Amino acid sequence: MRLRALFASLALVLSSLLVVTATSAPAQADECYSWGRTLSEGASGSDVAELQVRVAGWAGYGVNMAIDGQFGPQTRAAVASFQSAYGLAADGVAGPATFSTIYALQDADCTPVHFSWAEVDGGCGQGGYSGGSVSAATVRTNLLRAMWRAEALRHRMGDQPLRVTSGFRSKACDQSVGGSGSGQHTYGTAIDLVPAGGGSPSFCTIASNARHAGFGGIFGPGYPGHDDHTHVDTRTSRAWSAPSCGI
Ligand SMILES: [Zn+2]
Repeated sequence: MRLRALFASLALVLSSLLVVTATSAPAQADECYSWGRTLSEGASGSDVAELQVRVAGWAGYGVNMAIDGQFGPQTRAAVASFQSAYGLAADGVAGPATFSTIYALQDADCTPVHFSWAEVDGGCGQGGYSGGSVSAATVRTNLLRAMWRAEALRHRMGDQPLRVTSGFRSKACDQSVGGSGSGQHTYGTAIDLVPAGGGSPSFCTIASNARHAGFGGIFGPGYPGHDDHTHVDTRTSRAWSAPSCGI
């Protein structure tokens, strides 16, 4: 009897603890990153920058959004487009529903669900992130930003799977594949994309949609050496060329 009474009171304590957890904890914890407050225009901080990395692919046609930790009109527009694309109320304010959607889209290692570190480190075999034009840490930061824009691009095209054929390249690797040794791939800002399932989306469809997904550099069909993939990169200037696609 005494034991049963003990279990009964334990169960009571446990259930009240569960209720407290359900009502007072943040919407969801995430292994990569969790936001602790609702973010709207005027906010600033590292949590804003983390948000910007994930919505930069939704900032609009030709917009390469600054990842500066300042929640301005560009961030509001990007959040609203992201919300609309994922079926949320598009108020441009990042709260629990928006964060939950992002949590569902990100892996524990912070990559978006449909892209991985393994595939962006494959320029010359998976040799890590050293030997490029910037430090390995900066290369990884840049690759993550490119992957989140690629995730936006993929969703924009109706969730058709994409595959990265080349991401980061060391200077030596870049030269060995005919590059200058100092191009965007050596910064980790560039990825080469192909459709993963058959011929769809076409290279031209990828190039065309990439203009809306935060990519300053786009090279596709008709540009020398780019008839078998579409290159996208996050440079801040604009360099788009895919003559066979009218770009
Ligand atoms: Zn490329």
